[in-house]
Amino acid sequence: MAKTAEGIKVKAHPEQNIARYERLFDSFKKSTQGAISVAELVARLERTGISSADPRLVGALSSGGSAGDAQLDQSQFAALCGRSGGLVNRALTGALAIPDFASFTSDVTDIYENLRADDKGSVADYIPQLKRVPPDLFAISVCTVDGQQFSIGDSSRRFCVQSVCKPINYALTLEEHGPEVVHRHVGREPSGSGFNELSVNGEGLPHNPMINSGAIMSCALVKPLQAMADRFDYVAETWRRLSAGRPVGFNNAVYLSERQTADRNFALGYFMREHNAFPDATDLLSTLEFYFQCCSIELDSVALASTAAALANGGVVPLTNERVFSTGTVQKCLSLMSSCGMYDYSGEFAFTIGLPAKSGVSGALMLVIPQVMGIAIWSPRLDLLGNSVRGIGFCRELVDRYNFHVYDSLVAGNSEGGKRDPRLKKDQTAIDGTVRLLWSASIGDLDGIQAALAGGVSARSQDYDGRTALHLAASEGHIDVIEYLLDHGADAAAEDRWGGTPRSDAEKAGHPEAVSALRGPVGPGPGRPRKTTS
Ligand code: GLU
Repeated sequence: MAKTAEGIKVKAHPEQNIARYERLFDSFKKSTQGAISVAELVARLERTGISSADPRLVGALSSGGSAGDAQLDQSQFAALCGRSGGLVNRALTGALAIPDFASFTSDVTDIYENLRADDKGSVADYIPQLKRVPPDLFAISVCTVDGQQFSIGDSSRRFCVQSVCKPINYALTLEEHGPEVVHRHVGREPSGSGFNELSVNGEGLPHNPMINSGAIMSCALVKPLQAMADRFDYVAETWRRLSAGRPVGFNNAVYLSERQTADRNFALGYFMREHNAFPDATDLLSTLEFYFQCCSIELDSVALASTAAALANGGVVPLTNERVFSTGTVQKCLSLMSSCGMYDYSGEFAFTIGLPAKSGVSGALMLVIPQVMGIAIWSPRLDLLGNSVRGIGFCRELVDRYNFHVYDSLVAGNSEGGKRDPRLKKDQTAIDGTVRLLWSASIGDLDGIQAALAGGVSARSQDYDGRTALHLAASEGHIDVIEYLLDHGADAAAEDRWGGTPRSDAEKAGHPEAVSALRGPVGPGPGRPRKTTS
């Protein structure tokens, strides 16, 4: 919708839309009737990580006609782009969160393959239902804040969320009561002791919402006045919304087993009641039951990645554009996931990985890369602290390859030192550097040239036409720039695609001083003229 001068929203005229999408349309192969194939469009979208089953696209594609060999003329294509809410445009112009999605997912695949052989750790055995899960299962799913998706492994096998329900329930309490009320009943400091330790903070409250006592407290705060069935429906429905249409279930056997073997959780409940930590009128037994039910919610890694992506995206589910949590809620939830989300490994995880995450005894791990993507890893073998071994392994390898650690931006030379930024378009760093160098040379900005070279750009970089910084400085007669470039490795004999050299450019443009600077003595640097170009 465009706005008129009076601020009234008007629909863009169909002709305007057609013009806007003309260039996109022209990037496709045309049939003899001048139409493009839906199959080619779908294939191109899928290469960017946008699936043809994407809820934002299904309506658009079906009304455009999506049968195998369906064709679209230019106005149908423009209408489809409009119905996708800009998604098709952004995908086809490389403007999604991870522009080179294929490279990123090939790295994820590589990490997955490296970790498959790792059979360290053991499956949780405190209840038979978890003990029976085949230990080798392994899934990784990715969902970016633009809804680019990728999965590998057992990504449609469902598992229980277990402790991964803790951040979601905490977020629900914040939405319902606000932080001031919620934190009258639960602290926000790491506990420094085990996740189910019988301890409270100095005010008699559970230490934080990411350990068992705090999660039981969240359950006491979620819709406390409603019937149990409605409270459970509310939580399950929240998971469904976060999962963007993936199935969300409930494992009754896990629930019954949890309840059967919950002495510690009962003890925590009574201990907190003894300290008057609960809101008035809390029914302790139903609160505990509710907690066991929340732990027994089941979903697959695709759904968990969508949930993590909603947290990465400030509370809006990327695949449906639905806001589930406010940005304030997400900010608080991610803060506590960062400091307390990984059991007794939380401090080490914050140090090494530097990202908010939450794991559970089922082997699930939800990793959030704010404003970029959510990742779900599921592998049931746990280390001694209760975290998925392969899950932690994945996080380590990921931040070794990419500059996702929250403080990576402060590490000088990171982009040079091997860590990549997948948010950049393909070869973006090199392209930006070259453009900066050439532009600075053409306007005679020596500081700009020095900065570009200091940033690792080669003085010999060329544009598509083979033009170098020296050609441009010579054409404009910037002597100081010419001398600096020659002393820093520029090639005085470089030829552009028309055979022009910096010196011939200087001659053509009438800059005799530049001509003689370019004729100067050979050596000592590699950039001094190597051959005559008369
Ligand atoms: N149901 C488990 C408990 O409360 C959850 C444990 C977990 O995933 O940390 O003991």
